[in-house]
Amino acid sequence: MRLIILGAPGAGKGTQAEVLSKKLDIPTISTGEIIRNAIRQGTDLGKEAKQYIDRGLLVPDDVVIEIVKDRLTQDDCKNGFILDGFPRTVPQADALTKMGVTIDKVLSIEVAEEKIVERISGRRQCSKCGATYHIVYKPSKEENICDLCGGELIMRQDDAPETVKNRLKVYHEQTEPLKDYYQSKGLLVVAYGQEEVADTTKEVLKALGVV
Ligand code: ADP
Ligand code: ZN
Repeated sequence: MRLIILGAPGAGKGTQAEVLSKKLDIPTISTGEIIRNAIRQGTDLGKEAKQYIDRGLLVPDDVVIEIVKDRLTQDDCKNGFILDGFPRTVPQADALTKMGVTIDKVLSIEVAEEKIVERISGRRQCSKCGATYHIVYKPSKEENICDLCGGELIMRQDDAPETVKNRLKVYHEQTEPLKDYYQSKGLLVVAYGQEEVADTTKEVLKALGVV
């Protein structure tokens, strides 16, 4: 399956992508993760992207389009993939079409706006390996320590409340129009985020028609 996951920041795209990736045995391509890795490694891409990401702004289209184009040519994408966080603008969606990529489904995960800020404030990420946690919904075994590598868990810089406001604004203005865009192509399915990750997964699988 070639799948796009849409949703506001904090809607749980990455979490559900991880579950689906295992279940369907296809890779997840998260542009946010690729960019954060580049920042951790201090590459040129990382340096450029940091100015945008830290302010809650989108990284320029041409930069992310290049990242995705490159990633999709890799071998593991042959039998399908999950795009988490791309496309985020209409030009990015058009670029995907121009690459000759056909998409099977576009899943939008819907979460009430007041839930989002609460969710994001509890998010933590490993400073070493990038694994993600949530203090309520997905706690690490030991407080502030990564289960996988022992690294220190920190808050993403763009998860600060002021920045989250910006990201939500950007989402409504630039990304939400993609729902209509894909609806008109008959590709859009919707799932409503639930309190528990596993319950959201059930909704997601139902929406996708995967049993
Ligand atoms: P979230 O969905 O919670 O906002 P992501 O990890 O998907 O988290 O994205 C974090 C940040 O990375 C975005 O605010 C943006 O700055 C940058 N980013 C990720 N994907 C894209 C994209 N497709 N286009 C532009 N910027 C992106
Ligand atoms: Zn780790």
